[in-house]
Amino acid sequence: MKTRIENQKKLYFQMNNGMVQTRKNNLRAIENWIKHNRKRIYEALYLDLGKSPFEVFETELLPTLNEIKYLLKNLDSLSATKKVRSPLFLFKAKSKIEKKPYGQVLIMSPWNYPFQLALSPMVSALAAGNCVVLKPSEISENTSALLKDMFDELNLKYWVEVVEGDVELTQELLDMPFDYIFFTGSTEVGKIVMKKASEHLTPVTLELGGKSPCIVDESAKIHLAAKRIVWGKFLNSGQTCVAPDYILVDRKVKESLIDSLEYWIDKYVLEQMDTYPKIISEKHINRLRGLVDGQYCLNDVIVNASNQFLPILVDEPALDSKLMKEEIFGPILPIVSYTNLEEAIEIVQSKPHPLALYLFSQSKKTQELVLDQLQFGGATINDTIMHLASHHLPFGGVGASGMGNYHGKYGFETFTHNRSVMNRATWIDVPLRYAPYGWKLKILEVLFG
Ligand code: NAD
Repeated sequence: MKTRIENQKKLYFQMNNGMVQTRKNNLRAIENWIKHNRKRIYEALYLDLGKSPFEVFETELLPTLNEIKYLLKNLDSLSATKKVRSPLFLFKAKSKIEKKPYGQVLIMSPWNYPFQLALSPMVSALAAGNCVVLKPSEISENTSALLKDMFDELNLKYWVEVVEGDVELTQELLDMPFDYIFFTGSTEVGKIVMKKASEHLTPVTLELGGKSPCIVDESAKIHLAAKRIVWGKFLNSGQTCVAPDYILVDRKVKESLIDSLEYWIDKYVLEQMDTYPKIISEKHINRLRGLVDGQYCLNDVIVNASNQFLPILVDEPALDSKLMKEEIFGPILPIVSYTNLEEAIEIVQSKPHPLALYLFSQSKKTQELVLDQLQFGGATINDTIMHLASHHLPFGGVGASGMGNYHGKYGFETFTHNRSVMNRATWIDVPLRYAPYGWKLKILEVLFG
Protein backbone atom coordinates (compact mmCIF):
# COMPACT_ATOMS: atom_id res chain seq x y z
CA MET A 1 0.00 0.00 0.00
CA LYS A 2 2.74 2.41 1.04
CA THR A 3 4.71 1.90 -2.17
CA ARG A 4 1.63 2.41 -4.31
CA ILE A 5 0.83 5.68 -2.55
CA GLU A 6 4.40 6.94 -2.63
CA ASN A 7 4.63 6.13 -6.35
CA GLN A 8 1.40 7.95 -7.02
CA LYS A 9 2.74 11.07 -5.35
CA LYS A 10 6.05 10.89 -7.22
CA LEU A 11 4.37 10.41 -10.60
CA TYR A 12 1.77 13.10 -9.90
CA PHE A 13 4.41 15.70 -9.13
CA GLN A 14 6.51 14.64 -12.16
CA MET A 15 3.72 14.37 -14.71
CA ASN A 16 0.98 16.78 -13.67
CA ASN A 17 1.10 19.85 -15.87
CA GLY A 18 -1.98 21.43 -14.30
CA MET A 19 -3.97 21.25 -17.52
CA VAL A 20 -7.68 21.86 -17.03
CA GLN A 21 -8.41 19.64 -20.04
CA THR A 22 -6.91 16.60 -18.27
CA ARG A 23 -9.05 17.29 -15.22
CA LYS A 24 -12.16 17.52 -17.40
CA ASN A 25 -11.25 14.23 -19.09
CA ASN A 26 -11.01 12.57 -15.68
CA LEU A 27 -14.45 13.89 -14.68
CA ARG A 28 -16.00 12.80 -17.98
CA ALA A 29 -14.52 9.31 -17.62
CA ILE A 30 -16.04 8.97 -14.14
CA GLU A 31 -19.39 10.32 -15.38
CA ASN A 32 -19.46 7.83 -18.26
CA TRP A 33 -18.50 4.92 -16.05
CA ILE A 34 -21.37 5.71 -13.69
CA LYS A 35 -23.84 6.02 -16.55
CA HIS A 36 -22.76 2.71 -18.08
CA ASN A 37 -22.58 0.76 -14.82
CA ARG A 38 -25.76 1.77 -13.01
CA LYS A 39 -26.86 -1.83 -12.56
CA ARG A 40 -23.61 -2.78 -10.79
CA ILE A 41 -24.02 0.21 -8.47
CA TYR A 42 -27.65 -0.69 -7.71
CA GLU A 43 -26.56 -4.25 -6.95
CA ALA A 44 -23.73 -3.31 -4.59
CA LEU A 45 -25.93 -0.92 -2.61
CA TYR A 46 -28.70 -3.48 -2.42
CA LEU A 47 -26.26 -5.99 -0.97
CA ASP A 48 -24.80 -3.51 1.53
CA LEU A 49 -27.90 -1.62 2.64
CA GLY A 50 -30.94 -3.08 0.88
CA LYS A 51 -31.39 0.24 -0.95
CA SER A 52 -33.84 0.26 -3.85
CA PRO A 53 -32.61 1.44 -7.26
CA PHE A 54 -34.79 4.56 -6.86
CA GLU A 55 -33.16 5.51 -3.57
CA VAL A 56 -29.71 4.76 -4.98
CA PHE A 57 -30.37 6.99 -7.97
CA GLU A 58 -31.90 9.76 -5.86
CA THR A 59 -29.32 9.87 -3.07
CA GLU A 60 -26.13 8.37 -4.49
CA LEU A 61 -26.01 8.89 -8.27
CA LEU A 62 -27.92 12.12 -8.79
CA PRO A 63 -25.85 14.20 -6.32
CA THR A 64 -22.62 12.80 -7.78
CA LEU A 65 -23.66 13.37 -11.40
CA ASN A 66 -24.90 16.88 -10.58
CA GLU A 67 -21.60 17.69 -8.92
CA ILE A 68 -19.68 16.51 -12.01
CA LYS A 69 -22.00 18.47 -14.31
CA TYR A 70 -21.47 21.66 -12.29
CA LEU A 71 -17.70 21.21 -12.24
CA LEU A 72 -17.45 20.51 -15.98
CA LYS A 73 -19.51 23.58 -16.75
CA ASN A 74 -17.62 25.90 -14.42
CA LEU A 75 -14.09 24.51 -14.30
CA ASP A 76 -12.58 27.10 -16.65
CA SER A 77 -13.72 30.03 -14.55
CA LEU A 78 -13.15 28.31 -11.19
CA SER A 79 -9.56 27.44 -12.01
CA ALA A 80 -8.66 30.68 -13.80
CA THR A 81 -6.00 32.87 -12.23
CA LYS A 82 -7.65 35.97 -10.75
CA LYS A 83 -5.96 39.33 -11.28
CA VAL A 84 -6.40 41.64 -8.28
CA ARG A 85 -5.50 45.26 -7.54
CA SER A 86 -2.43 46.30 -5.54
CA PRO A 87 -2.68 49.06 -2.92
CA LEU A 88 -1.20 52.47 -3.76
CA PHE A 89 1.66 52.17 -1.24
CA LEU A 90 2.94 49.17 -3.21
CA PHE A 91 3.25 51.16 -6.46
CA LYS A 92 4.19 49.68 -8.90
CA ALA A 93 3.09 46.04 -8.76
CA LYS A 94 0.91 43.43 -10.48
CA SER A 95 -0.93 40.95 -8.26
CA LYS A 96 -2.69 37.70 -8.96
CA ILE A 97 -4.21 34.74 -7.16
CA GLU A 98 -3.39 31.37 -8.68
CA LYS A 99 -5.69 28.42 -8.04
CA LYS A 100 -3.31 25.62 -7.15
CA PRO A 101 -4.06 22.05 -6.06
CA TYR A 102 -2.68 20.90 -2.69
CA GLY A 103 -1.19 17.73 -4.23
CA GLN A 104 -2.08 14.31 -2.87
CA VAL A 105 -5.43 14.18 -1.07
CA LEU A 106 -6.66 11.38 1.19
CA ILE A 107 -10.45 10.92 1.14
CA MET A 108 -11.97 8.69 3.83
CA SER A 109 -15.63 7.85 3.39
CA PRO A 110 -18.34 6.22 5.56
CA TRP A 111 -20.70 3.31 4.87
CA ASN A 112 -24.11 5.01 4.87
CA TYR A 113 -23.95 6.67 1.40
CA PRO A 114 -20.84 4.74 0.40
CA PHE A 115 -20.87 5.66 -3.29
CA GLN A 116 -21.83 9.33 -3.13
CA LEU A 117 -19.71 10.24 -0.12
CA ALA A 118 -16.64 8.71 -1.76
CA LEU A 119 -17.19 10.28 -5.19
CA SER A 120 -18.58 13.75 -4.44
CA PRO A 121 -15.48 14.96 -2.61
CA MET A 122 -13.29 13.04 -5.07
CA VAL A 123 -14.60 14.84 -8.16
CA SER A 124 -14.06 18.22 -6.45
CA ALA A 125 -10.51 17.22 -5.53
CA LEU A 126 -9.77 16.02 -9.09
CA ALA A 127 -11.37 19.13 -10.60
CA ALA A 128 -9.04 21.26 -8.50
CA GLY A 129 -6.11 19.27 -9.93
CA ASN A 130 -5.22 17.02 -6.98
CA CYS A 131 -4.52 13.31 -7.09
CA VAL A 132 -6.60 11.21 -4.71
CA VAL A 133 -6.17 8.24 -2.42
CA LEU A 134 -9.64 6.94 -1.60
CA LYS A 135 -10.20 4.84 1.51
CA PRO A 136 -13.85 3.65 1.40
CA SER A 137 -15.53 2.18 4.48
CA GLU A 138 -14.80 -1.51 4.98
CA ILE A 139 -18.30 -1.94 6.45
CA SER A 140 -20.09 -1.35 3.11
CA GLU A 141 -17.88 -4.04 1.60
CA ASN A 142 -19.71 -4.52 -1.70
CA THR A 143 -19.61 -0.84 -2.63
CA SER A 144 -16.02 -0.65 -1.45
CA ALA A 145 -15.10 -3.53 -3.81
CA LEU A 146 -17.04 -1.89 -6.64
CA LEU A 147 -15.17 1.40 -6.16
CA LYS A 148 -11.90 -0.52 -6.38
CA ASP A 149 -13.04 -2.23 -9.61
CA MET A 150 -14.34 1.06 -10.98
CA PHE A 151 -10.96 2.77 -10.75
CA ASP A 152 -9.06 -0.33 -11.93
CA GLU A 153 -11.28 -0.28 -15.03
CA LEU A 154 -11.04 3.48 -15.48
CA ASN A 155 -7.26 3.37 -15.17
CA LEU A 156 -6.84 7.09 -14.57
CA LYS A 157 -3.08 6.58 -14.21
CA TYR A 158 -1.68 8.29 -11.14
CA TRP A 159 -4.83 10.33 -10.43
CA VAL A 160 -6.78 7.89 -8.24
CA GLU A 161 -5.69 5.04 -5.94
CA VAL A 162 -8.35 3.10 -4.04
CA VAL A 163 -7.13 1.51 -0.82
CA GLU A 164 -9.42 -1.05 0.80
CA GLY A 165 -8.89 -2.15 4.36
CA ASP A 166 -9.80 -2.16 8.03
CA VAL A 167 -9.15 0.22 10.89
CA GLU A 168 -5.55 -0.99 11.32
CA LEU A 169 -4.72 -0.22 7.70
CA THR A 170 -6.43 3.18 7.99
CA GLN A 171 -4.24 4.07 10.91
CA GLU A 172 -1.12 3.20 8.89
CA LEU A 173 -2.51 5.30 6.08
CA LEU A 174 -2.93 8.24 8.44
CA ASP A 175 0.76 8.06 9.33
CA MET A 176 1.62 9.08 5.76
CA PRO A 177 2.28 12.72 4.83
CA PHE A 178 -0.74 13.65 2.70
CA ASP A 179 -1.18 17.21 1.45
CA TYR A 180 -4.86 17.31 2.45
CA ILE A 181 -7.27 14.98 4.27
CA PHE A 182 -11.01 15.01 3.66
CA PHE A 183 -12.80 12.84 6.20
CA THR A 184 -16.51 11.95 6.38
CA GLY A 185 -17.57 9.91 9.38
CA SER A 186 -18.15 9.96 13.11
CA THR A 187 -17.02 12.66 15.53
CA GLU A 188 -14.88 10.13 17.47
CA VAL A 189 -12.90 9.02 14.41
CA GLY A 190 -12.78 12.66 13.25
CA LYS A 191 -10.74 13.44 16.36
CA ILE A 192 -8.31 10.59 15.58
CA VAL A 193 -7.91 11.84 12.01
CA MET A 194 -7.24 15.42 13.11
CA LYS A 195 -4.69 14.33 15.70
CA LYS A 196 -2.82 12.21 13.15
CA ALA A 197 -2.99 15.00 10.56
CA SER A 198 -1.48 17.47 13.02
CA GLU A 199 1.75 15.44 13.07
CA HIS A 200 2.37 16.44 9.44
CA LEU A 201 0.47 19.76 9.72
CA THR A 202 -1.87 18.42 7.05
CA PRO A 203 -5.00 20.56 6.59
CA VAL A 204 -8.29 18.71 7.11
CA THR A 205 -11.94 18.94 6.29
CA LEU A 206 -14.08 16.98 8.74
CA GLU A 207 -17.63 16.13 7.70
CA LEU A 208 -19.05 14.67 10.90
CA GLY A 209 -22.44 13.89 12.44
CA GLY A 210 -24.40 14.79 15.56
CA LYS A 211 -27.94 15.15 16.80
CA SER A 212 -29.85 17.28 14.29
CA PRO A 213 -32.99 18.69 15.93
CA CYS A 214 -36.33 19.21 14.25
CA ILE A 215 -38.49 21.90 15.85
CA VAL A 216 -42.22 22.01 15.08
CA ASP A 217 -44.10 25.03 16.40
CA GLU A 218 -47.85 25.55 16.70
CA SER A 219 -48.08 27.57 13.46
CA ALA A 220 -46.63 24.73 11.34
CA LYS A 221 -48.67 22.95 8.67
CA ILE A 222 -48.67 19.79 10.74
CA HIS A 223 -49.71 17.15 8.19
CA LEU A 224 -47.18 18.40 5.63
CA ALA A 225 -44.48 18.74 8.31
CA ALA A 226 -45.04 15.12 9.39
CA LYS A 227 -44.85 13.94 5.76
CA ARG A 228 -41.53 15.69 5.18
CA ILE A 229 -40.12 14.57 8.53
CA VAL A 230 -41.03 10.94 7.82
CA TRP A 231 -39.34 11.16 4.41
CA GLY A 232 -36.12 12.67 5.84
CA LYS A 233 -35.99 10.47 8.91
CA PHE A 234 -36.64 7.08 7.31
CA LEU A 235 -34.65 7.62 4.12
CA ASN A 236 -31.94 4.95 4.23
CA SER A 237 -33.65 3.72 7.44
CA GLY A 238 -32.47 6.75 9.35
CA GLN A 239 -28.80 6.07 8.56
CA THR A 240 -28.30 9.60 7.24
CA CYS A 241 -25.95 12.16 8.80
CA VAL A 242 -28.48 14.98 8.33
CA ALA A 243 -31.60 12.99 9.27
CA PRO A 244 -33.79 14.73 11.86
CA ASP A 245 -32.49 13.04 15.03
CA TYR A 246 -35.26 14.10 17.43
CA ILE A 247 -38.38 16.27 17.39
CA LEU A 248 -39.08 19.23 19.66
CA VAL A 249 -42.77 20.02 19.32
CA ASP A 250 -45.07 22.61 20.85
CA ARG A 251 -47.21 20.75 23.40
CA LYS A 252 -50.40 22.15 21.79
CA VAL A 253 -49.82 20.33 18.49
CA LYS A 254 -48.01 17.23 19.72
CA GLU A 255 -50.95 14.81 19.45
CA SER A 256 -51.89 15.87 15.93
CA LEU A 257 -48.21 15.64 14.87
CA ILE A 258 -47.98 12.08 16.23
CA ASP A 259 -51.19 11.12 14.39
CA SER A 260 -49.79 12.47 11.15
CA LEU A 261 -46.37 10.86 11.67
CA GLU A 262 -48.09 7.50 12.16
CA TYR A 263 -50.20 8.06 9.05
CA TRP A 264 -47.16 8.76 6.83
CA ILE A 265 -45.06 5.99 8.41
CA ASP A 266 -47.81 3.53 7.43
CA LYS A 267 -48.02 4.91 3.92
CA TYR A 268 -44.34 5.47 3.11
CA VAL A 269 -42.61 2.77 5.14
CA LEU A 270 -44.83 -0.05 6.35
CA GLU A 271 -46.75 -0.35 3.07
CA GLN A 272 -43.48 -0.13 1.09
CA MET A 273 -41.30 -2.65 2.88
CA ASP A 274 -39.83 -3.96 -0.38
CA THR A 275 -38.01 -0.64 -0.87
CA TYR A 276 -37.21 0.08 2.80
CA PRO A 277 -33.42 -0.25 3.43
CA LYS A 278 -31.92 -2.50 6.09
CA ILE A 279 -29.61 -1.72 8.98
CA ILE A 280 -26.01 -2.14 7.90
CA SER A 281 -24.96 -4.78 10.46
CA GLU A 282 -25.95 -6.86 13.49
CA LYS A 283 -23.74 -4.62 15.65
CA HIS A 284 -25.71 -1.53 14.61
CA ILE A 285 -29.04 -3.31 15.21
CA ASN A 286 -27.94 -4.11 18.75
CA ARG A 287 -26.82 -0.52 19.29
CA LEU A 288 -30.28 0.71 18.20
CA ARG A 289 -32.01 -1.81 20.47
CA GLY A 290 -29.89 -0.50 23.34
CA LEU A 291 -30.98 3.09 22.65
CA VAL A 292 -34.71 2.32 23.06
CA ASP A 293 -34.25 -0.05 25.97
CA GLY A 294 -36.38 1.23 28.89
CA GLN A 295 -37.96 4.04 26.80
CA TYR A 296 -41.70 4.61 26.34
CA CYS A 297 -42.04 3.53 22.69
CA LEU A 298 -45.25 4.00 20.71
CA ASN A 299 -44.39 0.90 18.63
CA ASP A 300 -42.80 -2.48 19.34
CA VAL A 301 -39.18 -3.04 18.42
CA ILE A 302 -39.41 -5.24 15.33
CA VAL A 303 -36.45 -6.30 13.24
CA ASN A 304 -37.23 -8.82 10.50
CA ALA A 305 -35.07 -11.51 8.91
CA SER A 306 -33.84 -9.03 6.27
CA ASN A 307 -32.50 -6.74 9.02
CA GLN A 308 -35.17 -4.12 8.34
CA PHE A 309 -35.75 -2.22 11.57
CA LEU A 310 -39.31 -0.89 11.74
CA PRO A 311 -39.80 2.79 12.63
CA ILE A 312 -40.17 3.60 16.31
CA LEU A 313 -41.59 6.78 17.85
CA VAL A 314 -40.42 7.40 21.42
CA ASP A 315 -42.64 9.57 23.60
CA GLU A 316 -40.95 12.08 25.94
CA PRO A 317 -37.57 10.40 26.54
CA ALA A 318 -35.53 11.76 29.45
CA LEU A 319 -33.17 14.46 28.19
CA ASP A 320 -30.22 12.83 29.96
CA SER A 321 -30.92 9.37 28.46
CA LYS A 322 -28.50 7.75 26.01
CA LEU A 323 -31.17 8.16 23.31
CA MET A 324 -31.09 11.94 23.73
CA LYS A 325 -27.30 12.16 24.04
CA GLU A 326 -25.94 9.91 21.28
CA GLU A 327 -26.49 10.39 17.55
CA ILE A 328 -29.26 7.85 16.75
CA PHE A 329 -28.38 7.06 13.12
CA GLY A 330 -31.36 4.72 12.68
CA PRO A 331 -35.18 4.69 12.38
CA ILE A 332 -35.94 5.77 15.96
CA LEU A 333 -37.62 9.15 16.41
CA PRO A 334 -37.85 10.65 19.91
CA ILE A 335 -40.56 13.27 20.45
CA VAL A 336 -40.05 15.86 23.17
CA SER A 337 -42.67 18.53 23.81
CA TYR A 338 -42.10 22.12 24.96
CA THR A 339 -44.36 24.80 26.42
CA ASN A 340 -42.56 27.81 25.00
CA LEU A 341 -39.96 28.16 22.26
CA GLU A 342 -37.21 29.24 24.70
CA GLU A 343 -37.35 25.77 26.24
CA ALA A 344 -36.74 24.16 22.85
CA ILE A 345 -33.89 26.56 22.12
CA GLU A 346 -32.29 25.77 25.48
CA ILE A 347 -32.41 22.03 24.78
CA VAL A 348 -30.60 22.48 21.46
CA GLN A 349 -28.11 24.89 23.03
CA SER A 350 -27.29 22.36 25.73
CA LYS A 351 -25.90 19.93 23.13
CA PRO A 352 -22.86 20.15 20.80
CA HIS A 353 -23.54 22.11 17.58
CA PRO A 354 -25.53 19.84 15.22
CA LEU A 355 -24.85 19.26 11.53
CA ALA A 356 -28.37 20.26 10.52
CA LEU A 357 -31.38 22.03 12.00
CA TYR A 358 -34.97 21.75 10.84
CA LEU A 359 -37.74 24.14 11.78
CA PHE A 360 -41.37 23.79 10.77
CA SER A 361 -43.09 27.13 11.34
CA GLN A 362 -45.19 29.59 9.37
CA SER A 363 -44.04 32.42 11.66
CA LYS A 364 -41.27 34.68 10.28
CA LYS A 365 -40.53 35.84 13.82
CA THR A 366 -39.96 32.28 15.05
CA GLN A 367 -37.82 31.50 12.03
CA GLU A 368 -35.60 34.52 12.69
CA LEU A 369 -35.36 33.82 16.43
CA VAL A 370 -34.31 30.21 15.94
CA LEU A 371 -31.76 31.08 13.24
CA ASP A 372 -30.34 33.88 15.41
CA GLN A 373 -30.02 31.92 18.62
CA LEU A 374 -28.74 28.56 17.44
CA GLN A 375 -25.46 27.42 15.93
CA PHE A 376 -25.50 24.51 13.41
CA GLY A 377 -23.96 23.41 10.10
CA GLY A 378 -26.94 24.21 7.86
CA ALA A 379 -30.73 24.35 7.98
CA THR A 380 -33.84 23.73 5.98
CA ILE A 381 -36.97 25.58 7.04
CA ASN A 382 -40.25 23.73 6.48
CA ASP A 383 -38.59 20.63 5.03
CA THR A 384 -35.81 18.19 5.82
CA ILE A 385 -32.47 17.34 4.15
CA MET A 386 -33.00 19.65 1.14
CA HIS A 387 -30.33 22.27 1.92
CA LEU A 388 -27.64 19.77 1.06
CA ALA A 389 -29.16 19.00 -2.32
CA SER A 390 -28.27 22.44 -3.71
CA HIS A 391 -24.78 22.92 -5.11
CA HIS A 392 -25.21 26.67 -4.60
CA LEU A 393 -25.02 26.10 -0.82
CA PRO A 394 -21.88 25.02 1.06
CA PHE A 395 -22.39 21.79 3.03
CA GLY A 396 -20.54 21.17 6.26
CA GLY A 397 -20.71 21.21 10.04
CA VAL A 398 -19.52 23.49 12.80
CA GLY A 399 -17.93 22.61 16.13
CA ALA A 400 -18.55 18.95 16.95
CA SER A 401 -20.34 18.39 13.62
CA GLY A 402 -17.25 19.24 11.61
CA MET A 403 -15.14 21.90 9.93
CA GLY A 404 -14.90 23.07 6.34
CA ASN A 405 -17.45 22.44 3.63
CA TYR A 406 -17.94 21.35 0.02
CA HIS A 407 -20.43 21.04 -2.90
CA GLY A 408 -20.30 23.17 -6.04
CA LYS A 409 -17.72 25.94 -5.98
CA TYR A 410 -17.15 25.35 -2.23
CA GLY A 411 -15.84 21.87 -3.01
CA PHE A 412 -13.43 23.28 -5.57
CA GLU A 413 -12.24 25.93 -3.09
CA THR A 414 -11.76 23.31 -0.33
CA PHE A 415 -9.22 21.45 -2.44
CA THR A 416 -7.54 24.59 -3.77
CA HIS A 417 -4.64 26.57 -2.38
CA ASN A 418 -5.10 30.25 -3.22
CA ARG A 419 -1.54 31.16 -4.08
CA SER A 420 -0.68 34.86 -4.05
CA VAL A 421 1.89 36.17 -6.47
CA MET A 422 3.05 39.79 -6.65
CA ASN A 423 5.29 41.00 -9.44
CA ARG A 424 7.13 44.27 -8.63
CA ALA A 425 8.29 46.74 -11.23
CA THR A 426 12.01 47.40 -11.49
CA TRP A 427 11.88 50.73 -13.35
CA ILE A 428 10.95 52.55 -10.13
CA ASP A 429 12.00 52.08 -6.49
CA VAL A 430 10.21 54.46 -4.09
CA PRO A 431 12.80 55.25 -1.36
CA LEU A 432 10.27 55.70 1.46
CA ARG A 433 10.78 52.32 3.17
CA TYR A 434 14.55 52.48 3.46
CA ALA A 435 16.58 53.89 6.39
CA PRO A 436 17.45 56.53 7.43
CA TYR A 437 13.76 57.16 8.26
CA GLY A 438 13.97 60.78 9.59
CA TRP A 439 11.33 62.92 7.83
CA LYS A 440 9.78 59.85 6.13
CA LEU A 441 7.58 59.07 9.14
CA LYS A 442 5.75 62.40 8.65
CA ILE A 443 4.98 61.48 5.05
CA LEU A 444 3.64 58.06 6.06
CA GLU A 445 1.46 59.67 8.74
CA VAL A 446 0.06 62.26 6.33
CA LEU A 447 -0.55 59.83 3.48
CA PHE A 448 -1.79 56.74 5.35
CA GLY A 449 -2.43 57.69 9.02
P1 NAD B 1 -16.72 6.03 11.03
O1 NAD B 1 -16.14 7.25 11.64
O2 NAD B 1 -16.79 4.80 11.85
O3 NAD B 1 -15.91 5.62 9.71
C1 NAD B 1 -15.54 6.54 8.70
C2 NAD B 1 -14.21 6.12 8.11
O4 NAD B 1 -13.22 6.06 9.13
C3 NAD B 1 -14.22 4.74 7.44
O5 NAD B 1 -13.49 4.83 6.24
C4 NAD B 1 -13.53 3.84 8.44
O6 NAD B 1 -12.83 2.81 7.83
C5 NAD B 1 -12.58 4.78 9.16
N1 NAD B 1 -12.33 4.43 10.57
C6 NAD B 1 -13.21 3.87 11.44
N2 NAD B 1 -12.65 3.76 12.67
C7 NAD B 1 -11.39 4.23 12.57
C8 NAD B 1 -10.29 4.39 13.48
N3 NAD B 1 -10.38 4.01 14.74
N4 NAD B 1 -9.14 4.94 13.01
C9 NAD B 1 -9.03 5.35 11.74
N5 NAD B 1 -10.03 5.21 10.82
C10 NAD B 1 -11.18 4.67 11.22
O7 NAD B 1 -18.15 6.46 10.48
P2 NAD B 1 -19.27 5.53 9.88
O8 NAD B 1 -19.79 4.64 10.95
O9 NAD B 1 -18.79 4.91 8.61
O10 NAD B 1 -20.39 6.62 9.49
C11 NAD B 1 -21.31 7.10 10.40
C12 NAD B 1 -20.93 8.47 10.92
O11 NAD B 1 -20.58 9.32 9.86
C13 NAD B 1 -22.11 9.16 11.61
O12 NAD B 1 -21.65 9.84 12.75
C14 NAD B 1 -22.60 10.14 10.57
O13 NAD B 1 -23.30 11.25 11.09
C15 NAD B 1 -21.32 10.54 9.92
N6 NAD B 1 -21.56 11.03 8.57
C16 NAD B 1 -21.37 12.33 8.28
C17 NAD B 1 -21.64 12.81 7.01
C18 NAD B 1 -21.44 14.24 6.63
O14 NAD B 1 -21.50 14.52 5.43
N7 NAD B 1 -21.22 15.15 7.54
C19 NAD B 1 -22.11 11.92 6.04
C20 NAD B 1 -22.31 10.59 6.37
C21 NAD B 1 -22.02 10.14 7.63
